[in-house]
Amino acid sequence: MTDTRIAAARLEALAHALLSALGSAPDEAAVVARHLLEANLRGHDSHGVGMLPFYVDSCRAGTLVPNQPARLSNDAGAILQFAGDRGYGQRVVMEALDLAIERVKSTGIVLTTVSQSHHMGRIGTYGERLAEAGLVALLFVNVTDFPKALVAPFGGSAARFGTNPICIAFPAGNVEPAFVLDFATSMVAYGKTRVAYLAGRHFDEAVMLDAAGHPTADPKVMWEEPKGALRPIAEHKGGGLVTAVEFLAGLLSSGGTFQPAHPRAGGIVNNLTAVIIDPARVAGTAWLRAEYDAMADYIRSSPSPEGAPPVMLAGEPERQRRAQRLEEGLTFSANEWAGILEAARRAGVAEADLADLA
Ligand code: NAD
Repeated sequence: MTDTRIAAARLEALAHALLSALGSAPDEAAVVARHLLEANLRGHDSHGVGMLPFYVDSCRAGTLVPNQPARLSNDAGAILQFAGDRGYGQRVVMEALDLAIERVKSTGIVLTTVSQSHHMGRIGTYGERLAEAGLVALLFVNVTDFPKALVAPFGGSAARFGTNPICIAFPAGNVEPAFVLDFATSMVAYGKTRVAYLAGRHFDEAVMLDAAGHPTADPKVMWEEPKGALRPIAEHKGGGLVTAVEFLAGLLSSGGTFQPAHPRAGGIVNNLTAVIIDPARVAGTAWLRAEYDAMADYIRSSPSPEGAPPVMLAGEPERQRRAQRLEEGLTFSANEWAGILEAARRAGVAEADLADLA
């Protein structure tokens, strides 16, 4: 079966049509479709349009509720807390950040939390948004509601966590673009096991454990019974990080953790704790920019082994892939593409419209 290649604009239109058919108002469909497309463009297909089949199922099951705005639940100066009410995380978080960006102008630092939205998607999107606004961002996200935990604790074989991403973003200097570090605290994001499984590919290293706790590179252990677990990054340090994110995001947002007393309705619910800092309140902007550029330059000057690509800073691979994919289009495995089209039909996109869009 051959891969499908599609231009960015057509993919976004397809996602918009599907989300609208699922019930989203035009603005919401636009925000979510753009988020998904940008994830694909930046090379994170795990968090792109390929999530839509799951979103259709979640909508039908009532674990995802269209047209929910970010609901402000606690406005206490430098603390802004929102409830997500199972709405699209891509919309809810953007709205929460809009208020945080406004607030940080007066407070210099803001703690923003969002509890219980549906999937927030690629967390780097929010880091990029905050960095573009000239702000430093520390973002921690945990996962609840999923039927089964995905990531094993360090030293354990059975999963106890979601893939708990962290994003740390720093605004651009005069020359150097923004630093956007954004990753799952598991060795790979869960969605990447979906993309590999559907494409019939194994990983290059044993990023998972099978049900008996043996390391494996075969993604089927995440998609076929008996299911295994993803391994945390960086041995005991990553095991500590995945746990820290669970506490930071799950507790401070009041959205809760993966502990088994909570109901698991089968959706992907995310909770976010974000610390947002206006760096201009703690150091001069001219100095910050020059120092940022100088350090980035110094990092880049570290020679790479012969034949290997030069040193990059976080955010750069995504910028490179975006430029390339805008030019060349986006590629999906035959299985993944069939799943997206099937999801569009299930959502109610008319066959004639689908023929036009796809
Ligand atoms: P990854 O392993 O691809 O790492 C990405 C990070 O590493 C980026 O910041 C990138 O710029 C940087 N990077 C990559 N190669 C680099 C290089 N050679 N030099 C310097 N920096 C480099 O990401 P991942 O762990 O697979 O996560 C993928 C996505 O999944 C993320 O966007 C994350 O937010 C998302 N995610 C979301 C959830 C959720 O529940 N919403 C859960 C887990 C992950």
